[in-house]
Amino acid sequence: MNYIPVIGLEVHAQLSTRTKLFCGCSTEFGAPPNHHTCPVCLGMPGVLPVLNRKVVELAVKAGLALRCEIRRTSVWARKNYFYPDLPKGYQISQYELPLCENGHVLVDTGGGEKRVRIKRIHMEEDAGKNIHETGSASSLVDFNRAGVPLVEIVTEPDLGSPEEASDYLKTLRDILVSLGISSANMEEGGFRCDANVSVMPEGASQLGTRTELKNLNSFRFVRQALELEIARQTGVLEGGGRVVQETRLYDPGQGVTRAMRSKEEAHDYRYFPEPDLQPLVVEEAFVAELDEALPELPRERMKRFEAQYGLSREEARALTF
Ligand code: ADP
Ligand code: MG
Ligand code: ZN
Repeated sequence: MNYIPVIGLEVHAQLSTRTKLFCGCSTEFGAPPNHHTCPVCLGMPGVLPVLNRKVVELAVKAGLALRCEIRRTSVWARKNYFYPDLPKGYQISQYELPLCENGHVLVDTGGGEKRVRIKRIHMEEDAGKNIHETGSASSLVDFNRAGVPLVEIVTEPDLGSPEEASDYLKTLRDILVSLGISSANMEEGGFRCDANVSVMPEGASQLGTRTELKNLNSFRFVRQALELEIARQTGVLEGGGRVVQETRLYDPGQGVTRAMRSKEEAHDYRYFPEPDLQPLVVEEAFVAELDEALPELPRERMKRFEAQYGLSREEARALTF
């Protein structure tokens, strides 16, 4: 039997703002640990978040570029979990009513042009960073990144191979960078991807059970991890076994994916509407203004250069980026 891979991606991209999502601290990368912190992003009792308008502007821009519906009234949610890099004990995110939904992006793949559906885009704050120094008996935590604004961009399970997944990521990155939404710097953690993957028998109508792969911090790692995981799941099914829904960690050194934890469910996070923030209302005029100012997407510009000036793909690409 032939097994077909099915892939859906969740990307966290850091928005290009000077300051954090709910406080005035700088988002500068590489400062000394805990240099860019204040009572708000350290989660001190009694402080209140104040929304950064620029974040909403950039997130709406992302939604428009990815042809989403922009929700006029969206809601902030608390996602509760414990981890040392999360000082408040919850992350402010969006859950039931995200800012953007039902979009799509056109991607050039080996098999031609592909329309990848965007399920949702929501805004959220980043967590801090735990530092485990080798040889040290203690771990440290740096909160410079805590409260930095992100968008999470989630696709429908429309990608059919590791190459398509990587083609999509490159196209998405090009859009975010060229529109000034995110610098999408992978080395600095400004563009992070989790990959959901399942396999199903050719011709089947129901999707298989998926696993979620973490720690994919380069395009090459995304491809490699997906290839390994597709082979692993195929082996499990061919051996008469069942794929377990779980979160797995890619280990590029060993060239394997490893079970990390059973898949968390939404109820594990006890999501509820954030009581410290009003629902977010974006006015029609605000969206219309951003829509009118939205430039041609890089892929469209490249296609236009090819057609209009009779350029090769490489020439057009060189002029586009
Ligand atoms: P959750 O709410 O558990 O995060 P979602 O429905 O939001 O699940 O899906 C998360 C991601 O997983 C999306 O990118 C989606 O496309 C992908 N996905 C969902 N089901 C499957 C599947 N059977 N195989 C591969 N990817 C899937
Ligand atoms: Mg999810
Ligand atoms: Zn702060």
